[in-house]
Amino acid sequence: MSIVHVVSMSGGKDSTASAILAIEQHGRSACRFVMADTDNEHEITYEYVDYLEGALGVTIHRVKRDFSGEWWARRDYVRDVWPTKGVSDVAVTRALEVFERGPTGSAFLDLCIIKARFPSRMAQFCTHELKIIPITEHLMSIIDETGSAVWSWQGVRIEESNARRTRFQGTGACVSDFDEVGGGLFNYRPILRWTWQDVFEAHRLYGIKPNPLYLQGHDRVGCVCINSGKREINAWGKRHRAHIERIAEWEDIVSAVSKRGNATFFPAPGDSETARERGNIWQKVEWARTARGGRQFNLLDQLDEPTACSSAYGLCE
Ligand code: SF4
Repeated sequence: MSIVHVVSMSGGKDSTASAILAIEQHGRSACRFVMADTDNEHEITYEYVDYLEGALGVTIHRVKRDFSGEWWARRDYVRDVWPTKGVSDVAVTRALEVFERGPTGSAFLDLCIIKARFPSRMAQFCTHELKIIPITEHLMSIIDETGSAVWSWQGVRIEESNARRTRFQGTGACVSDFDEVGGGLFNYRPILRWTWQDVFEAHRLYGIKPNPLYLQGHDRVGCVCINSGKREINAWGKRHRAHIERIAEWEDIVSAVSKRGNATFFPAPGDSETARERGNIWQKVEWARTARGGRQFNLLDQLDEPTACSSAYGLCE
C-alpha cells in the first residue's frame, strides 16, 4: 500500500522542522501539509505560513471549523430551555441578542460563544475542536481519495514540557514514535527526541527562517493562548496590543452569553460574579508587567509558569 506523508503545520519551529525532514526523506511529491486555522493566530504566523509555502516549495492546505449548525441549535436551546431552568430573563435576553446577530466569522469566538465560556487548562476544548477534529477529517479524506495509508507527522518533542513527558509516559526512553490509529491512519513523531538546538539547526541547514515571533520574546507562536505564562502575556501586551483589545471584546461577548454574565480568557479563581473585575485580560497584562509575585496581583500567580500546550499532536506550539 502506498503512503502519503501529511505534516501538521502550526507555524512553529517543531512542525517546520518536521516538514523539512519529511521533504528530505520522502520528497515533496509524497508529502502533504495542513494547518488548522483557529482565527486566533497572530498575523505574523499567517504571514510565516505563506512564507513557508514559498521557501519549502509546497502548498499548505488550511482547514477550519464552521460552527453555523451548532450556533443556531444553541440559540434555540437558550431561547426555549434556559427560561425553564431558572435563568433570569435578563440573561436570556442578553444572550439572545448575541445569537440573533449570527456567527461572528471567527471559529475560536463562535466556539466559545456556543460553550458559553473560554477554554482552560482543565477544559482545553479549543485544541480538540479547532485543530484535532478538522485535521483528522482532512487526513481521512486523503485516505478516501487516494486509497493510500496516511502517516500523520506530528512535530512534538519530549523535552518540550513536563506535561508532554507525562503524557508520553515517563522519561521518554520507552516512548514509541510510531503507532497505528486505524483505518489506514498512523501517527509518526519524527522529532520526539530532538533538542530545540536540533530544531533550529534543521532550519539553518535548509535555509528556512524561524517564525519572527520567536525573536520578539514569544515562547509559542500559535494562538493567543489560554496556556500562556507571564512572559508570554507580557510579550503580547508590549508588542501586540490590538490582539489584547480583541480578546477584551471577546470577553464582553462571551460574558453576554454566559448565565452569570461573566467570562474571562484567563482563569480568575474565586467568585465567578466578580471574575472580570479581578481577572480580565487587561488585568492579566498589567500583572504580567510586574516583577514575579507582585502582591497586588498574587491571585493571578497560577499563571506564573509558562506551560506548553499538552496536545500530543504538537498543534499548539
Ligand atoms: S494554542 Fe492554546 S488557545 Fe490555541 S488551540 Fe492550542 S491550547 Fe487552545
